[in-house]
Amino acid sequence: TKIKTLRPTYAEINLANYKHNIEVAKSLSKSKIIAIVKADAYGHGAIKLSKFAYEQCDVKDFGVATIEEGVNLRNVLPTDARIITLGYIDEHHFEELLHHKITPTVFDKSIMAKLDKFAKGNNVVLDVVLKIDTGMNRLGFGLNTDFNELVESYSNLNIVLMMTHLSSSDTDLDYTKWQINRFDEYLKRYNVKAETSVFNSSAICFYSNKYTYTRPGIMSYGYVYPENRFGLKPVMSIYSKLIHIKRLKKGEKISYNQTFTASKDMKIGVIPIGYADGYFRALSNKGVMFVNGKPCNVVGTVCMDMTMIDITHLNESDLDCEVEVLGKHIDAEQIAKMCNTISYEIVCAISDRIPRVYI
Ligand code: PLP
Repeated sequence: TKIKTLRPTYAEINLANYKHNIEVAKSLSKSKIIAIVKADAYGHGAIKLSKFAYEQCDVKDFGVATIEEGVNLRNVLPTDARIITLGYIDEHHFEELLHHKITPTVFDKSIMAKLDKFAKGNNVVLDVVLKIDTGMNRLGFGLNTDFNELVESYSNLNIVLMMTHLSSSDTDLDYTKWQINRFDEYLKRYNVKAETSVFNSSAICFYSNKYTYTRPGIMSYGYVYPENRFGLKPVMSIYSKLIHIKRLKKGEKISYNQTFTASKDMKIGVIPIGYADGYFRALSNKGVMFVNGKPCNVVGTVCMDMTMIDITHLNESDLDCEVEVLGKHIDAEQIAKMCNTISYEIVCAISDRIPRVYI
């Protein structure tokens, strides 16, 4: 069945697949889940998915990157849903943290000092997540930080969760084990009693979790690197249609800067999706779309709003069919390989211009 939307190009978001993937994450990790829904749920639509996860998947904790993302979620989630910002929060947003009941992650003394002062000024105790850096070397307190001193110095901050982030759970077993050991040793050294969270998607899939919460992002959207052995189901598909057909004579050129020359007489289809929609220009002369299940190569340079594909081999009856840009025959992992990137970047890049249709 065809879904009518504002544009001939749309992204279909399959909620049943999202639920399935969350269940896989829960059963593999035997933990509670912090659904990672930053970057608009990796391009899938954070409002819709978070509400669905809360109501249908018994998920009560959500991870976002920015204060704006947190506030947007709070507008649709009940107060017993915990919204954690994983990134940096500027001082002038502390009021919003308090007002919208958002739990910040703290990762250095300067932030803790400012937040503690703010909490004291408002006569409140604020829950915070404490991030320890065990080897990612991005955000987090170093392992030489005196935990007891933090607790004593910032008495209006209540550390409710101890977190660290793994840098290489998809590629390096030894480094991952080393990070895990360093985290465990830190907790032991200070006899920390707070709840814990370490694992991201590939850790959930390839290691045995012993922490209170896990933080699945990409696997909840149906992907995990280096291989999907767990029946994860991609949540996003993208469909479009042929809006114009062109017949080329052998030797004629296509698109900007003539990067493709017809090697024979050819039939070319124009598809209304381009790099401004998140269909990367790197897919020029590399990408593949499917029409009626038949592969059609991207020919010439991908434009801002349009892409051309070779439809020489299609039958008349194929031409009415939807064009699969991302779906059953080509997934985000395959598109990522063509662009020399990772599936995360492919789905995150799908821009607002493409309407999301939830099924
Ligand atoms: N936790 C933190 C702190 C993150 O930054 C991310 C994403 O980058 C995740 C969890 C989720 O990672 P993944 O999508 O690999 O599961």
